[in-house]
Amino acid sequence: MNIGYKFDLQQTDRNEKGIYACSVCGTALFAPEKKFNSGCGFPSFWAHIGENVRQNKLDTYGRSRIQLDCNQCGLHLGHLFEHTLTPTQVRYCINADAIQLKEVA
Ligand SMILES: [Zn+2]
Repeated sequence: MNIGYKFDLQQTDRNEKGIYACSVCGTALFAPEKKFNSGCGFPSFWAHIGENVRQNKLDTYGRSRIQLDCNQCGLHLGHLFEHTLTPTQVRYCINADAIQLKEVA
């Protein structure tokens, strides 16, 4: 049995071509090279494209969270968390149903 398969999957992710776009309006949101494997079970990125992702600070039950929405159609994408290991010090934790990989010619 090959116990190294998890690393193979991570490498496959890095070779993805195209752009991650909003599943509703098709706006480009994330580049595949900014995707990384955080181990949280959700697609994770460390930066978004241009001004296409809107950050909404939520203060609920005394806990502040940053909600991420598509800046074009307002689709809820996920949440932003602090992450010490990324170049931007943040992690975009994205709902897999909110994005789709679009081929770029
Ligand atoms: Zn959208």
